[in-house]
Amino acid sequence: MLFIVSAPSGAGKTTLCSMAVDFFPDLRHSVSYTTRPSRPGETNGVEYWFVDDETFDAMIERGEFLEHAEVFGKRYGTAKKDLDRLRSAGMDALLEIDVQGGETVKSLLKGGVYVFILPPSLKACEDRLKGRGKDTTKDIRKRLSIAVEEMKKASEYDYIIINDDLNAAFEKLKSIVVSERARRARMMDKVKGILEGR
Ligand code: ADP
Ligand code: 5GP
Repeated sequence: MLFIVSAPSGAGKTTLCSMAVDFFPDLRHSVSYTTRPSRPGETNGVEYWFVDDETFDAMIERGEFLEHAEVFGKRYGTAKKDLDRLRSAGMDALLEIDVQGGETVKSLLKGGVYVFILPPSLKACEDRLKGRGKDTTKDIRKRLSIAVEEMKKASEYDYIIINDDLNAAFEKLKSIVVSERARRARMMDKVKGILEGR
């Protein structure tokens, strides 16, 4: 299964998604490629694969991305091989991507589950970005100016979570994963197995 999670910067998407992959052993992040510099504390291959523009261009040319987009002046992309690797390992994939990426994935793949995380207010978003302490004042301004446009796309998602109280928001995200996994269409193989005594 593919869970696609989008949010304006500072809404708490990374925090919630990290809690989800820690909680569900069979749910893994797809590690995106980006041309943005790493923030203090980020490790290559963990939060992102940090690459230069030439490498990113070469990957586009070789058709290695499922989707890629420019966000805040830097490029980000989901590599097909990363998703293939997760699928082969029997893992559900969690894609933390922006609304442009979400739209592309929806047009290419069927069956994804789309979750949008909202902050309780724009002010909360700003305070959280400042509190995170990893973005420059200029970067924070740029991220907030785009936040409103991104939030307008929330209506295209299957679920919306308002991340006010973190634990309450996490409970909602967990419920979405559990419920989606139990959908009839996804359980029919298991039903067949039970009927056939497997
Ligand atoms: P995003 O990935 O959406 O940009 P982060 O997950 O990095 O956002 O969260 C931004 C900051 O807000 C972090 O410092 C995080 O610890 C904090 N944060 C996340 N969720 C909440 C919440 N519900 N209440 C208060 N602070 C939060
Ligand atoms: P950040 O720089 O804060 O880590 O991420 C900035 C934005 O880029 C976030 O909205 C994040 O979801 C988005 N993003 C991260 N990886 C990808 C990706 O692979 N594809 C797309 N389209 N967006 C991504």
